[in-house]
Amino acid sequence: MEIAVDLHAHSVFAGGTQALKHSPENKVENEKKAISHLTSTNQTMPLKGVDLVGTGDCQYSVWTDILKGVLIEDTNGIFFLENNRQTRFLLQTEMIFTARIGKYSKEAHVIFLFPDFSSVETFRNLLDQWGVKHHKMARPFITCKSSVQVAERIHTILDIDPLIEAIPAHIMTPQGVFGTGKGNIRINQLSDFFGSVSSRIRILETGLSADPEFLTLIPELDDRVLISNSDAHSSALHRMGREFTVLSLSKLDYPNLISALRKNQILYTVEFPPEEGRFFLTGHRAGRKRPGLHGDNDYCFFSPQYVPLNDLCPICKKSLTIGVFQRCVEISRAQEVERNLGDVQPPKKFIRMVPLIDILSHVLKVKTKTAKSLITHYRQITSLLGPERNLWQLTSDEVEERLISQIETQILKGILQVKAGNFTFHPYGFDGVYGTLVIGKKGNYREVNVINSSQPIQQKLEINRIQ
Ligand SMILES: [Zn+2]
Ligand SMILES: [Zn+2]
Repeated sequence: MEIAVDLHAHSVFAGGTQALKHSPENKVENEKKAISHLTSTNQTMPLKGVDLVGTGDCQYSVWTDILKGVLIEDTNGIFFLENNRQTRFLLQTEMIFTARIGKYSKEAHVIFLFPDFSSVETFRNLLDQWGVKHHKMARPFITCKSSVQVAERIHTILDIDPLIEAIPAHIMTPQGVFGTGKGNIRINQLSDFFGSVSSRIRILETGLSADPEFLTLIPELDDRVLISNSDAHSSALHRMGREFTVLSLSKLDYPNLISALRKNQILYTVEFPPEEGRFFLTGHRAGRKRPGLHGDNDYCFFSPQYVPLNDLCPICKKSLTIGVFQRCVEISRAQEVERNLGDVQPPKKFIRMVPLIDILSHVLKVKTKTAKSLITHYRQITSLLGPERNLWQLTSDEVEERLISQIETQILKGILQVKAGNFTFHPYGFDGVYGTLVIGKKGNYREVNVINSSQPIQQKLEINRIQ
């Protein structure tokens, strides 16, 4: 059977979400919000075409107790929500590992999948032993002295049960292993951060700002399994299921799922457009407070070949936030097999899914992505076409045939233009800001060099020629 999985999500208690603070006084209210998040996840996932999703934060005790109360085990390690069996769940969390590498501390987020509540309990005991502050934080920090200690700890977690999987998350972003951290520290090999446990790391998450094509630049990843997840921090339609992985399984249970992932029985992944991802290009966004100050119109972003010398921001003179595209190019060089995009074919098929909510937002000129009007159109379209992924799996003629005279002409026109590749992002995603979809124009992300306006001023810069 074909099964679509999104193995990285968060509860309402994690940092970056509404991050509910838990106390005895608000217990009942928080539990209500947490369950309502689960219920809306349950209803949203089928609209995206996703069959199974991670619970997020499964070791956070308040959330673990709620999950124990409302989830019913369907098959071994796979759960349903009581009374409404639309979407399946599995126990998943994300931890923030930090380690001193040279002079600076580098962080790398890692997803963990668990086969059952008892292994989650053992994991929680380990966190206690290590002094991790996990009682107050749903996505806690595991602070390590060095890559040796990172390896020791991940080995210990994996030794709890052979079915536990550790998956480095959004590997190319500043919070992922290959992204730059403080002091613009650069990890160019998995073992530089993960030490000896890198041989037990079989599966990695591409993240929203990268996809299998960009990751062909990194030779070390040729033999690894690349998966895609949405890392949703809310149950909003434009966040959940925006990336996922489709697998071939003989039967859906946790052991089979893990074995299929390890054996790379991936049929294809569904990808968020990397250029829209929040860390695609190198730059500094407007209005940033640190480092240095940027006013409301002070921003800059660059393709790898135009990045200013020493990665210094031409506005505030501090280090730029290095984008995923630049890191892919640099690591390709560091791993001594310098590749260009297109040199190597991605090992698996993948589909780029421009979010339907973004298309509606552009066509209808409604900026708030959670606006009722957008959701109404979204629901109408998915009721005619089936899950959003069908938009990208059906041909343009098929989509037109099913939608014509059923939806507003301008919306259909917008969808068909995007399907024909007639779109870009302006700006592209950079420094923590999502790219903005523009329909009816094409762009070239290899030729971007913008400071404060759309006027290129490359002649005024000393630039790194890194591509
Ligand atoms: Zn993360
Ligand atoms: Zn700056």
